Amino acid sequence: MNAQLTAYITLICVSGVLNLYLCLYVFIKRHNYTNIARFFIVYALSIAIYCFGSAFCLMATTFQQIKYWTIILYIGLAFAPLLGLLFIMQYLGIHVSKKMYIALFTIPFISFIMVATNDLHHFFYREFKIDPILGAPYVYEKIGIWYMIHGVFIFSCMFVAFLLALSRWRETAKVYRPQLIALMFGQFISIITAFLYLIGVTPTGIDQVPMVLWVSSLLYLWAINSSRMFTITPIAKNAIFNSINDGVIVLDESYRLIEYNKACKSMFPKINRSMFGADFEKVWFGISGRKIPSNLEPAMVNQEIELTTGRIYQVRTSLLQHQNDSKGLLIIFTDITELKRLQLELEYQAYYDELTQIFNRRAFFQKCERLFHEAMKSSLPFTTILIDIDYFKKVNDTYGHDVGDQVLKHVAQVCQMQVGKDILFARYGGEEFILALKHNASVGESLANQLRQQVESQPLTTSEGVVAVTLSSGVAEAVKQPGETLNHLLNKADKALYVAKREGRNQVCVYAGVENG
Ligand code: GH3
Ligand code: MG
Ligand code: MG
Repeated sequence: MNAQLTAYITLICVSGVLNLYLCLYVFIKRHNYTNIARFFIVYALSIAIYCFGSAFCLMATTFQQIKYWTIILYIGLAFAPLLGLLFIMQYLGIHVSKKMYIALFTIPFISFIMVATNDLHHFFYREFKIDPILGAPYVYEKIGIWYMIHGVFIFSCMFVAFLLALSRWRETAKVYRPQLIALMFGQFISIITAFLYLIGVTPTGIDQVPMVLWVSSLLYLWAINSSRMFTITPIAKNAIFNSINDGVIVLDESYRLIEYNKACKSMFPKINRSMFGADFEKVWFGISGRKIPSNLEPAMVNQEIELTTGRIYQVRTSLLQHQNDSKGLLIIFTDITELKRLQLELEYQAYYDELTQIFNRRAFFQKCERLFHEAMKSSLPFTTILIDIDYFKKVNDTYGHDVGDQVLKHVAQVCQMQVGKDILFARYGGEEFILALKHNASVGESLANQLRQQVESQPLTTSEGVVAVTLSSGVAEAVKQPGETLNHLLNKADKALYVAKREGRNQVCVYAGVENG
């Protein structure tokens, strides 16, 4: 065996050993790694088979041995480029369907069968024999049709893998770029060597590719160890990152932008990759038109922000830590527009009367208690007016409940028009309304009369005819005595209302009873 051949075999064996080592290394540690590592294990194994097959081929002394080891090496060679491609696709988060897997594996499978059964059909090698000049282990071969198909296929696999990795360059965060370089070069070295062999630049008769595969293996080994290829979020996780609905911005430890996801892009259309590396304050101003205080973490935690688009986001931050070292900050934006709308709707439903769309009894008490105490504290007059529609049962009986409802709405509307902002107006229940104002009883009386006249003069035209109603009101002013309560005051208004009813309705009565009676 000459020195050159010995050198070839040594190189190939180094590649084989390195790949076997990689395969076992990742296999043993596979539980610490992501799923991508499994693809890598099979890939490295196929390369190892390819390398050792090639090495034994070169050590062969008989034609039978050469044929035997050629078949063995094709177990690796037929599948390795495809496994490499699938490994890179998995790494980049590209989904491959089951059908696609089957289709892709069909070609290398046929290739292997073709090599193994070449003597029967000569589709792979038209001629395959020991080189008549150089002797074993050099072979003289004339390639067949399937050799070409196989060649195109493995070139395509390597080339596509290389292009896919290259295409992700721009969108890959800096931390993952060393991994991507390792993947691209790993493919690139094989492509170039295979190409040089194909165009006849390198000596014929011996496949040079396994001789350079140790370089790819070293690159992968380096990537696995130094840039933690299989442990820190690989690009496949980008797919998850981009599929979540929350907008996520990633900052480094100096609060510079290093990553954002798809949802973030739709929330802040102005964000773009040219902002990578820029200070977040600047980025934030650029994308939202707002300033943020300099101490970002506490400032943005659990804030709600409403953007000019009208959408409301809840902002959370989360420290990125690695072994107690701060590695940066995640800012997470959750779209709470719908939630807010629902909250407002529920609040509205809780405080507004569904039929008349004015405050309901609950809202009245809540607001009136506050007004009442304010007035009592500052010795201001405080008056309530209780209004009841006269003979309302008759409206229902004559025109039906629907018309009754319309009349209630109409009365509420007419009154609302007359009532200023500083006066509380609510539906007290049924066909009763209530007002509260920080004025004395005579102001209350004239307001009640104003409402009474307005309602009387504005009958409602309905499909069932014109419906006119009148109002009776009871007015009562709070006395400035320590024991005065809102309940007491409402009682007095009720009594006055009773008097107004008794006196013939369509009138206002001011409470004039003896205070302690
Ligand atoms: P008055 O107050 O003048 O003594 O006579 P009234 O007929 O108004 O007396 P009452 O307070 O007894 O009747 C109130 C009626 O209002 C009874 C009830 O059916 C009707 N009512 C209460 N709430 C509603 C409502 O939301 N829609 C309709 N259509 N009717 C209602
Ligand atoms: Mg009533
Ligand atoms: Mg009534």
